[in-house]
Amino acid sequence: MTQKTKLREGEVTVDMPPARDAGLVFIGRIRTPWKSRLETPRQGRHDGPVCRLEIFEPWVPAIKGVDFYENLEVVYWLHQSRRDLVLQSPKNNQKTRGTFSLRSPVRPNPIGTSIVKFVAVEGNTILVRGLDCLDETPLLDVKPDRCEFSPLAQEKSGDVEGE
Ligand code: SAM
Repeated sequence: MTQKTKLREGEVTVDMPPARDAGLVFIGRIRTPWKSRLETPRQGRHDGPVCRLEIFEPWVPAIKGVDFYENLEVVYWLHQSRRDLVLQSPKNNQKTRGTFSLRSPVRPNPIGTSIVKFVAVEGNTILVRGLDCLDETPLLDVKPDRCEFSPLAQEKSGDVEGE
């Protein structure tokens, strides 16, 4: 349901190449209070409202253990974004910039990420604070925040630069 929003001064689109199937599956959907992009925060805050990550079967058992972490990384598909802009002019900052220098939802692969505060698990649902997406946004992945996970993971030889 990509939306072709009106172009602003300086913005440049490209013809999208045909999509290659990366084999992504939506593992759930995100329930938030926001029904329109205008009212959705630009970036989530840890004192923001509780949002719900509803996990679909067969992925529900994969929730086990997320309550160990204070912070989780949530990866989602910003499904209403257009994808064909290489130059963008953010609304409150008229300077035109390249898509890869922005965290705009408009990008060739509209993947959003947020570090969220874990609140609770209720059945097939993970409750978190700190999201910034529309209600019903498709969920791609949930993983521990790397700053909490890395110190627990076993060290590998490539972790530090060799002499
Ligand atoms: N935190 C993520 C990141 O940095 O990767 C997303 C940031 S993006 C600036 C957040 C904005 O994307 C929201 O303010 C809203 O305008 C827009 N947005 C949220 N959910 C969306 C969706 N499902 N489809 C398209 N746009 C969406």
